Amino acid sequence: MGVLEELPKPLLKWYRENARVLPWREDPTPYHVWVSEVMLQQTRVAAVLDYYRRFMNAVPDVETLAGLSEECLMKLWQGLGYYSRARNLQQAARQIMEDYHGVFPAEFQKIRALKGIGDYTAGAICSIAFGLPEPAVDGNVLRVVSRITGDDGDISAASMRRKVTEMLRPLIPPDAAGDFTQAMMELGAVVCLPNGVPLCETCPVRDFCVAFKTGQTDRLPVKAEKRTRRKENRTVWLIFYQQKVALRKRPERGLLAGLWEFPNELEETDGPREWGIPISREYPAGKARHIFTHIEWNMTVRITVPVSGQLPEGWVWADEHELKEIYAIPGAFDGLRDLVEQEMRKIDSEEKTV
Ligand code: SF4
Repeated sequence: MGVLEELPKPLLKWYRENARVLPWREDPTPYHVWVSEVMLQQTRVAAVLDYYRRFMNAVPDVETLAGLSEECLMKLWQGLGYYSRARNLQQAARQIMEDYHGVFPAEFQKIRALKGIGDYTAGAICSIAFGLPEPAVDGNVLRVVSRITGDDGDISAASMRRKVTEMLRPLIPPDAAGDFTQAMMELGAVVCLPNGVPLCETCPVRDFCVAFKTGQTDRLPVKAEKRTRRKENRTVWLIFYQQKVALRKRPERGLLAGLWEFPNELEETDGPREWGIPISREYPAGKARHIFTHIEWNMTVRITVPVSGQLPEGWVWADEHELKEIYAIPGAFDGLRDLVEQEMRKIDSEEKTV
């Protein structure tokens, strides 16, 4: 165990004096902890705050979440990205309604078995909401422990995660499991920062931190090289007709499943002609880029004006209001929104002057 034995006392003292005030900490019910943790996966705290408040106003409990329409759910999640998280959240809510009469189960294995909940989130819910001595180990915690212990194991390896989990388990104070979990997260988020710039001078554990004492903070943690991203060149067609733009729904499975999008294809396709949309004019309108975890979209944008309002089955025409309020469109297309609005207004005024 070594240096880690010294960790809980100064860590908890520091946390209790310095913890940030966050809405999900005010009333850490299992539902609040769960939703906040799912939102915080892949998204920074500052970006999550407004989404969390809006979500809790609209969806205050498991039962409401289980019964929410898909369009409402996607709309509430719009901007947070990684939409499968929202779908899993809802499926888990339905599991809780069916299997546990709407009451969140208070056991690690039962929580872990809910859709979309992994070891980390289950550990966070168990410790923060139920006070159970279950560690919650994410990338932040792996970084902190690697540095404190001077361990140069690869933090992207499952074996390292298991090792850290078992190292932390006996350290969790029986009467302060939630604070311990949150203190570890907090230290990683605001002091033991990634990319070689930890704020060691203000760190409550620097007296026994191996990385600090041996000058290895920029070398630790060790992380294996990430796989390179696949690049896709896509053409996006913004198809306008009578102040409306064409949208189609993405397939129910895979990347951005079930969301609405501006029609787009890999470069080699012929877009509107292949979709059977008769065109009056078409012209290039610039480029945009979006980076997902494993894919990069390099988008070439074309503006198309068809001769009629005929669209393939399942596609819709959306006006400016519907685009903002009704259809959930992934953040990958955020860079095109201004252009779409401008063009709608332009086409509107062109039509009026004809
Ligand atoms: Fe991280 Fe520095 Fe604190 Fe060690 S002393 S845990 S490297 S912030």
